[in-house]
Amino acid sequence: MSKGEGVKPSRIDPKFRYEVAKMLGGRDVLQCFQCGTCTSDCPVSRFSEKYRPRYIIRMVQLGLKERVLNSDFLWLCASCFTCTDRCPQGVEVANVIRTLKNMTAMEGRIPEVFKVILGNLVKTGYIYRIPDSRIKRREELGLPPLSKVNIEGLNKSLQNIGIGEILKEVLQKGGEVDMWV
Ligand code: SF4
Ligand code: SF4
Repeated sequence: MSKGEGVKPSRIDPKFRYEVAKMLGGRDVLQCFQCGTCTSDCPVSRFSEKYRPRYIIRMVQLGLKERVLNSDFLWLCASCFTCTDRCPQGVEVANVIRTLKNMTAMEGRIPEVFKVILGNLVKTGYIYRIPDSRIKRREELGLPPLSKVNIEGLNKSLQNIGIGEILKEVLQKGGEVDMWV
């Protein structure tokens, strides 16, 4: 949220903070007193000026649901849990952010790169398509074969977590995307 950016009262959802507080790990979101420790220790904040976990928590407290769920910075969180470990108020910051991402995903919106990762997962069981050359190299080095993934079971589980629309889109896109460089 940039400074000076106004918020129309109609855009405020007063129930949002309670909605988040009910989710796993969201309980203490109202305890945040904006000390900024989470932001000062966050490795992503060091590299991105627009990423501030403290602001994200504040946006939840203020009911800025639409704004926070539509933000691109939400997805920058690396889920390292440093913020959660350091928060003096016991706010599970990383879990709150994960909850917000889940809410966005339930509405069928995730960044393209995560769709690519999801596509690889549902088709191969791994988030990256592992090239044959790497599998061969493992054999040459005497490493054990990669574990077989129960793709059918995995897909059933994914169908049950409420991201059906995203899955449909991902599956319609066809082949996996090689993300190895
Ligand atoms: S460290 Fe905790 S109390 Fe401080 S701003 Fe972050 S969430 Fe709020
Ligand atoms: S979990 Fe996310 S918000 Fe928290 S410190 Fe790590 S990158 Fe930053």
